[in-house]
Amino acid sequence: MRKPVIAGNWKMFKTVEEAHDFWNAASSATIDASKVDAVICAPFLQLPALVEAAKGSSIHIGAQNMHQEKEGAFTGEISGDMLKDVGVTHVVIGHSERRQYFNETDETVNLKTKAALDLGLTPIVCVGESLEQREAGETETVVSKQVAEAFEGLTESEVEKTVVAYEPIWAIGTGKTATADDANQVCQAIRETLLDLHGEEAANATRILYGGSVKPANIEELLGKDDIDGALVGGASLEADSFLQLVEATQ
Ligand code: PGA
Repeated sequence: MRKPVIAGNWKMFKTVEEAHDFWNAASSATIDASKVDAVICAPFLQLPALVEAAKGSSIHIGAQNMHQEKEGAFTGEISGDMLKDVGVTHVVIGHSERRQYFNETDETVNLKTKAALDLGLTPIVCVGESLEQREAGETETVVSKQVAEAFEGLTESEVEKTVVAYEPIWAIGTGKTATADDANQVCQAIRETLLDLHGEEAANATRILYGGSVKPANIEELLGKDDIDGALVGGASLEADSFLQLVEATQ
């Protein structure tokens, strides 16, 4: 049995005060950490305060990006070591917005994934096709290639520790969700890619999330599908109420 993951991606939203308000509303919730990994991936500046606030709760704190090098002359960047140092446990890697606006490639995604695993951080590796690619019938080819390259050179046990988030680009922040069956079909193709490249055990153990306009109204149907093990959630993770409803749907 794979433990579900509900990961909130706050993107570039929330001041420290707003993060504090979220926490006040979320911290009283009882989350059974043996049944779900609940994660909030926040902007870098909020991370130390959130790690502090999350102590004793069942919510993990994640970042939205990291640099693959340990340290060095990389102005404006944050390393995995720095994340680890403040108590962060998860990191989103290769989100489509980073691929689109900040030159992330399958190669940097692979390097960052390896660097995160070396530090004991859980990488949430994002893959997904554009509308154009979907309409051309290329979805599974595109996504499988992204997965193969992101996971290149990983050992079986590293693959199992990595979380994949399948996020069709056309469904992010648009209100358009892939149907649960379509989402599941791509998640199944991802699992088959993992099976071919890394073996049955790794393929069966790896958590694969769906992302793209997930909200309390559609989470149950998505979670009902065999190959969907949770969600990466943008908009609906900004309010404590809806984030907690998503977490609850897994229990
Ligand atoms: P959304 O974003 O839930 O607002 O569509 C998902 C994501 O980009 O991770």
